[in-house]
Amino acid sequence: MEPVDTDVTGPDEHDGDAPFAGQAGNEPDGAPTLGDLLLAVEELWPESLAEGWDEVGLVAGHPAAPVTKVMFAVDPTLEVIEEAVEWGAELLITHHPLLLKGVTSVAATTPKGRAVHRLIESGTALLTVHTNGDSAVGGVSDVLADALGLQDVAPLTLAANGLPEEGIGRVGDLEDAMTLGDFAARVFGILPSVAGGVRVSGDKDGLVRRIAVCGGAGDSLFNEVRASNADVYVTADLRHHPASEAREAALNGRPYLVDVSHFASEWLWLPAAAAALGNVLADQGHDVEIQVSATNSDPWDFILTPG
Ligand SMILES: [Zn+2]
Repeated sequence: MEPVDTDVTGPDEHDGDAPFAGQAGNEPDGAPTLGDLLLAVEELWPESLAEGWDEVGLVAGHPAAPVTKVMFAVDPTLEVIEEAVEWGAELLITHHPLLLKGVTSVAATTPKGRAVHRLIESGTALLTVHTNGDSAVGGVSDVLADALGLQDVAPLTLAANGLPEEGIGRVGDLEDAMTLGDFAARVFGILPSVAGGVRVSGDKDGLVRRIAVCGGAGDSLFNEVRASNADVYVTADLRHHPASEAREAALNGRPYLVDVSHFASEWLWLPAAAAALGNVLADQGHDVEIQVSATNSDPWDFILTPG
C-alpha cells in the first residue's frame, strides 16, 4: 500500500513526517522504562475511560525494558509492526487492539500469531489506546472536531467514569454557516488521502453550522446526534440500513451524513497523540523520540464511481 500522504493533513503541527523528539535541556536521567511510558499514557488516556467491551492497555512487552523510540499507528498490522521494528521502536502504540476477542493460541501460523511473535522476538512492546483514546479530552473525536474548526465542543455521549468533557463523539458549531458541499470539501481536505474518499447524503447547497462527529464507526449514535440538533453527522463505516433509516427520520433533511474512511478519521489523532505524549515525557525529563507510522492501513485500495 501507498504510504499515507501527510501533506494533506492540515496544520503544520500535525505533520506526521516529523518526529516529536523530547525537548533537550532536561535532566538526562536515561531512557524511561516501558513502565514509565505506561504511567504517562495513563495520564493522557486513562484506561477507566475505555468502554466495557473493549480491551486496552499493554499487549506485549516487559515493563522494565528501556524505551527510546515510540511509534503511533492506527492498526497493529504486520506491515505496521515491521515499520516499527525497522525504525527501532521499543514501543508501538496502536488505536485498534490486536487481540480483542479471546484466543487459544498465538502460534505463528495465523496473522495475529505472527504479529505476536514478531513483536516479542524483536523486543517491541505493543500498547492499545482504543476507546479510552476516543473518550479522552484531546482524543480521536476531539481532534477531528478541532481540525474541522468546531467551537463550543461537547461529547455526544458522556463517559461512564469520566469528566463532563469526556465521552464518545463530539458536537460543536462552525464559526460561520457554510453549504454542505463546502463543508464536505473541508472534511476531505483535513483527512489523509485514502481510496474511499468522502461520501455525502444531503442537499449540497443546504446551509450547515452545527456539526456532530465520531471518529471510527459511529452508526450507533444516531439518537444522540438527533438530540444534539446537529445539521451534519461526520463518521465512518455507515452501513445501508442505519444510514437509510437515519435519512428517513431526518427533520428538514437534517442531520445530513458525511461518511469517511474509518482509518482516515482515526489517523488524525496520531500526530496529536504523539505531541501530547512527547510533552508529558519532556515534562518528566525523559528524552524519547516519537513518530507516527507512515503506513496506510486502510483496507481499501481503489474505487469505481459513475462518471
Ligand atoms: Zn476504529
